[in-house]
Amino acid sequence: MNRYDQGLMWFRRDLRADDNAALHHALKQCRQLWCVFVFDTDILDPLPRADRRVEFIHASVIELDARLRELGRAAGREGTGLIVRHARAQDDIPALAQQLRVQAVFANHDDEPAAHARDAHVRGQLAHAGIVFQGHKDHLIFERREVLTQAGHPYGVFTPYKNAWLKQVDSFYLKAYPVERYAASLAPLPAALEAPVPRLSDIDFEPTNLSQLPMPTGASGAQHLLDDFVERIDRYEATRNFPAVKGPSYLSVHLRFGTVSIRQLAALAYQMHLQGMQGASTWLSELIWRDFYHQILANFPHVVEKAFKPEYDHIKFEHGKHAHELFAAWCEGRTGYPLVDAAMAQINQTGYMHNRLRMVVASFLVKDLGIHWQWGERYFAEKLIDFDLAANNGGWQWASSSGCDAQPWFRIFNPVTQSEKFDPQGKFIRRYLPQLAQLPDAVIHAPWTARELELVGAGVELGKTYPHPIVDHALARERTLLRYAVVKKPGSTTT
Ligand code: FAD
Repeated sequence: MNRYDQGLMWFRRDLRADDNAALHHALKQCRQLWCVFVFDTDILDPLPRADRRVEFIHASVIELDARLRELGRAAGREGTGLIVRHARAQDDIPALAQQLRVQAVFANHDDEPAAHARDAHVRGQLAHAGIVFQGHKDHLIFERREVLTQAGHPYGVFTPYKNAWLKQVDSFYLKAYPVERYAASLAPLPAALEAPVPRLSDIDFEPTNLSQLPMPTGASGAQHLLDDFVERIDRYEATRNFPAVKGPSYLSVHLRFGTVSIRQLAALAYQMHLQGMQGASTWLSELIWRDFYHQILANFPHVVEKAFKPEYDHIKFEHGKHAHELFAAWCEGRTGYPLVDAAMAQINQTGYMHNRLRMVVASFLVKDLGIHWQWGERYFAEKLIDFDLAANNGGWQWASSSGCDAQPWFRIFNPVTQSEKFDPQGKFIRRYLPQLAQLPDAVIHAPWTARELELVGAGVELGKTYPHPIVDHALARERTLLRYAVVKKPGSTTT
């Protein structure tokens, strides 16, 4: 029997109809269910008018609408689909819920602080109108306080967290939430609300270069990437660190916006892990890192503003005009370190950056240029198509050593050695820095070490066609060790 006569499903970071926890529960509990997505002006207004994420969401919303229509049709319901609004979600959802006279609104959890504040407001408004707000876990396998130490505390170190995660996971947590069999509860859109999905220009955005990038959108795009990745998952362990090689899954943007189900991915990786496939085991670990950082954000929300480890807030980073010049050179890929500059070209041109390179450029910004990690975190938040507060903050705090289970403070990546190791023939560098393409492999990682003849032969003029290095790594390393000495614990070494 249905618990509610009428309900409303509010899609946010879960832009798929299939295997969607809140949609599953909503369809089961309501006799008639409407679905809505709001292009939230609180989120969109501060963004530049061309933003790949908005375009990705827009295309994915069109696909979601089509899928909801298809599901309704297959269940004998014509005229179903998605109500799409462009408004302030925290006011619009309660207003729409009252207009539709629903008894319950369903949504999947989002533990980012801004989302919590929005949801608290919505919950209050709905309660005032006598409407229930029902939340569900959907985008993580374990969230919040589901995986705890024996003493009942959230984990701050990854390996024991991972071991506990693996011990706790079973088919219950990995099973899909079926939707198709309950689709007869999808309600036709009321005539007053029936309208095509607004165009990008209707919500005041311009197209980006997204359609020219290998970043397929929507649930179908995610499935396409997954099919491709499954063919090579066994080589993941061997290939994932080499940015010129197609090693990782490229699914991060889909996990971010929920165009793929984490349960589908984790179940697949877990099965292969049980069969002893090393590539799948390593990939499963990455999915567990994702859960790990989300539970860090949920349980230690101070990380948004401060270091996870408070003593790291005492480090004095560079400031003033010089710091801003160094930062601008980093953002624009003008540091004179080719791997760093190629990586920054990748994020600027595509909105994606390979994981190894995220670690290299983050370390370079903080430990070679002496710039506060939060500057880099903000830049990534603006540029990354897969920007996710929990993973981004975790990654930056890892690189700056201020985070839970972070890189030790005295470990400083050498940007040249990293380049020689992970892009040995300079293929990635050549792809993004065509001005260096003709340099021999041996010097492409550090053009300032090339002989004059090699530079001339490759058409490179240092200081003109490509910058001199903006810092000397060896000196920068010494400065960083001094800068970080405030966190030095008695007995720690600097090996
Ligand atoms: P794959 O290697 O195929 O991994 C599969 C999935 O596992 C990823 O899609 C992602 O969801 C998850 N994952 C992988 N590595 C990590 C990790 N270290 N932490 C958390 N989850 C992980 N990832 C984001 O999704 N959004 C971010 O904003 C983000 N910012 C980062 C910033 C820095 C400084 C660093 C070092 C890492 C950051 N990462 C972030 C993690 C990682 O770099 C990306 O998830 C990964 O590169 C995405 O590519 P992929 O989907 O091909 O990854």
